[in-house]
Amino acid sequence: MSFRTLDDLGDVTGKVALVRVDLNLPMQDGTVTDNTRVRAAAPTILELADKGAKVLLLAHFGRPKGERVSTQSLSMVVGAVQDVLGREVMFVPEIAGDVVRQSIGILRPGDIAILENTRFWKGEEANDPDLVKAIAANADFYVNDAFSAAHRAHATTEGLAHVLPAYAGRSMQAELEALEKALGNPERPVAAVVGGAKVSSKLDVLTHLVGQVDHLIIGGGMANTFLAARGVDVGKSLCEHDLAATVNAIMDAADKAGCTVHLPYEVVVSKEFAANPASLRTSNVHEVAADEMILDVGPMSVEALGDVLKTCRTLVWNGPLGAFEIEPFDAATVALARTAAALTREGSLVSVAGGGDTVAALNHAGVAGDFTYISTAGGAFLEWMEGRELPGVAALEV
Ligand code: ADP
Ligand code: MG
Repeated sequence: MSFRTLDDLGDVTGKVALVRVDLNLPMQDGTVTDNTRVRAAAPTILELADKGAKVLLLAHFGRPKGERVSTQSLSMVVGAVQDVLGREVMFVPEIAGDVVRQSIGILRPGDIAILENTRFWKGEEANDPDLVKAIAANADFYVNDAFSAAHRAHATTEGLAHVLPAYAGRSMQAELEALEKALGNPERPVAAVVGGAKVSSKLDVLTHLVGQVDHLIIGGGMANTFLAARGVDVGKSLCEHDLAATVNAIMDAADKAGCTVHLPYEVVVSKEFAANPASLRTSNVHEVAADEMILDVGPMSVEALGDVLKTCRTLVWNGPLGAFEIEPFDAATVALARTAAALTREGSLVSVAGGGDTVAALNHAGVAGDFTYISTAGGAFLEWMEGRELPGVAALEV
């Protein structure tokens, strides 16, 4: 995969940059509650501004479905963006046309503006060529720094890359380089950890990974479905019994591809889904009672999984190994995450993780900073784990 980065820009003094960023910020009562996404985009925005470009930020916010919805105006995030950037930011209530052109006339080189929520226009999600042309008409080049929106072929995530000189921003670049190291062209052996609640939500991920990795570690509720398909009685555990045939097909494909699938042989069970329940115990997978639920991978199994990681050079991780929100069912996830973090610190493992709950679990384990790369992209990260081409990324390829 090859794409232009900000290193490939010539002199941009006074030039107009359209920069697609992720400003879909969590808000409560009109205030931004988490500015992680702004911090991710800041290096690209500031680099372009410092090079003298007039920086126009494009982003979507919520799902206004092609109409102006005042409660979803991007004007609401201007304060949060200014706070992170430490600069004044102008707000422009349009994304194309005269108002944008006049605003550009007011901006000086190095100034920054946020354009209105792109999803106020139907042509955004429809990737309408007329809207693409109208947006592009005011600008000299396009920078995409929103990997999290790259699984969508929308006007500002994909269309613009075809009509303007297009570059990956710094955060997009970091994400693509990390993903390339993890699955594109990884050092072997490669291990994948796939956990979470349900097999059905990650079927395509599993199917793709068995052909890519040397070790597939299954945890979470998904492991129950795998165990049940192998004839294990999983009691009252979360389990998709109707997926037995699918699971067996995945196991066969893994076998053919030389991928070892690791299922827990020892688990943590309980009769109730509550913190530190009286019925808590560790069990061999073959001794789970009819009224018990498997809620985590057992300590001996986790140690064995850690030993697998010690033989690997690359790890990609999506999905917690247990019901980590409730103690002590976070234990296996925390333990394996700490092993992965230690191996990464020692330099023997490249570790890449993503997924909403996975990121929360790694933060909970206190090791997010030790992983090689943590993707906060959610949907785009999962589509990448499914081996799909992301339209926003493909459009940047040269
Ligand atoms: P991500 O958001 O990282 O992709 P998922 O949404 O697929 O992860 O899965 C996370 C959820 O899976 C968590 O809410 C967790 O409690 C649940 N989970 C994990 N293991 C189990 C289990 N054994 N039984 C029930 N739920 C589980
Ligand atoms: Mg989730």
